[in-house]
Amino acid sequence: MRCAIISDVHGNLDALEAVLADASAHGAVDQLWCLGDLVGYGPQPNECVSLLRERGAMCVAGNHDWAAIGKMDTADFNPEATEAAVWTGQRLTEENRTYLDGLPETLLAGDAGEFTLAHGSPREPIWEYLTHLSVARLNFDYFQTPYCLVGHTHVPLIFQRPESSEKSPQYRTVVPAAGTPFALGSQRLIVNPGSVGQPRDGDAKAAYMLYDAGSGKGKSERGASSGTLTLRRVAYPIATVQEKMRSAGLPPRLVLRLTYGW
Ligand code: ZN
Repeated sequence: MRCAIISDVHGNLDALEAVLADASAHGAVDQLWCLGDLVGYGPQPNECVSLLRERGAMCVAGNHDWAAIGKMDTADFNPEATEAAVWTGQRLTEENRTYLDGLPETLLAGDAGEFTLAHGSPREPIWEYLTHLSVARLNFDYFQTPYCLVGHTHVPLIFQRPESSEKSPQYRTVVPAAGTPFALGSQRLIVNPGSVGQPRDGDAKAAYMLYDAGSGKGKSERGASSGTLTLRRVAYPIATVQEKMRSAGLPPRLVLRLTYGW
């Protein structure tokens, strides 16, 4: 099985299309997993939601999805994010609102349910940011599967819990290298594939991960996968999206940040 793992599309259709094209250019994609924030910030929220619905993506809800449909208030949003949430809310079709409203906070995915999907963290799926190991390590008790996939920070990162057999167990943070497969194995992991529509790690290219379940041989009794995750970075027409944002009257700072990936 091959899956594309995407997160934080944020209404950026050009980036989403580029990512989906990249994923299928490397072989058939059996499933699409989406870690929330389909909308907010970007100029084409309906198009992004419709495309993901068409593709039968397995999606969880993000804070921007809830904010856009009025399911939560924007008190903790910065002014630009609030403006974009209001703008998005005014444009979402009834069908797409209903779809976003129905998204679960967490999902299980994978042939043997090896993955928990959440937007922020398994502990606080909508809100918590897993930016550092100190917070991430507290979250390993909040999911039952070997691996958890999260988005929300827009930064590709892997948090690794030490094997219980290790002499001096150390939690680790791994910055995944684009194009280099990362073997899942028996270690427990929390993995962030980065953001499709608004990367914030200093690389303006869209980010996502490919999961290759591998042959299935060597699966341990704990349900660990013999597969790999590979971070991909994909160029997309940033200037085109920025033009759409300007025409839509979205905040200039949101337009500018796409150039730099911050
Ligand atoms: Zn986001």
